[in-house]
Amino acid sequence: MDPIESIAVLRRARAALSGSVGFVPTMGALHRGHLELVRRAAAEQQHVVVSIFVNPTQFAAGEDIARYPRDLARDLAALADERVSLVFAPQVAEMYPAGATTRIDVGPLATRLEGAHRPGHFIGVATVVAKLCHIVAPDALYLGQKDVQQTLVIRRMARDLDLPVQVIVCPTVREPDGLALSSRNAYLSPAERALAPELFAALAAAAQRFAAGERRADALRGLIRRHLAASPAIAVDYVSVADPVELHELDGLVAHAVVSLAATIGRTRLIDNIVLGAP
Ligand code: AMP
Repeated sequence: MDPIESIAVLRRARAALSGSVGFVPTMGALHRGHLELVRRAAAEQQHVVVSIFVNPTQFAAGEDIARYPRDLARDLAALADERVSLVFAPQVAEMYPAGATTRIDVGPLATRLEGAHRPGHFIGVATVVAKLCHIVAPDALYLGQKDVQQTLVIRRMARDLDLPVQVIVCPTVREPDGLALSSRNAYLSPAERALAPELFAALAAAAQRFAAGERRADALRGLIRRHLAASPAIAVDYVSVADPVELHELDGLVAHAVVSLAATIGRTRLIDNIVLGAP
């Protein structure tokens, strides 16, 4: 399938689709995590639209957007086996023509955790997803739990801006050793790749302790930090046990929480999360 680069052409092709449309926004370098979103959308909607766009506005200052993996031909080959009606792969100038200065800021939720470590990141995310939703006009948006704060930010943006779109969050797809699939895993050297499963192992240890009755937020954070401290090559950015709506750090006892972490291994920053006590 030929990707569509132009907003006008995409709008016309979208208007010609009859029935419901599920939309999967991506930055390409597609892996099984992305494909599971496509499959879920295909199972639930009559049409699936996928976007492939490495969004410059969500890279914070100093982050190396030039290094982000790009392989459109490979991505299109991966999508050829899926039930996808349209692929939208615009150039940066199509999405952000000179003089485009409007940005969407969902407020304090976007300044915590990833937002604190990547200033402006979620302004870029909210802006591009709002634009894509206006262009694609989907009935439902399919997002991965892997990026939990992103799901909360986009849900908030969709609600606050009255976007007529359902936000559907799909489970994190993992390697057999627990490492969450990510386009950034390709940056890991073999030695770094061997260490990377410790991130999920630390979260899983906290889940196990929670299942055994531990409810103190501090104890859970401490357990994860101690687990990761056993691997000095893992530099922890944050370990969070937070409420699942605002992502406020929890004190005292935990009933329901998002447990998330970010860490750098070598030059590669990875994130992961689990949810405890889901209602
Ligand atoms: P990205 O291309 O990294 O911007 O991701 C595009 C979408 O795929 C986002 O909704 C991500 O949360 C989702 N995604 C990325 N990795 C995974 C994964 N391992 N499992 C499930 N969804 C994922």
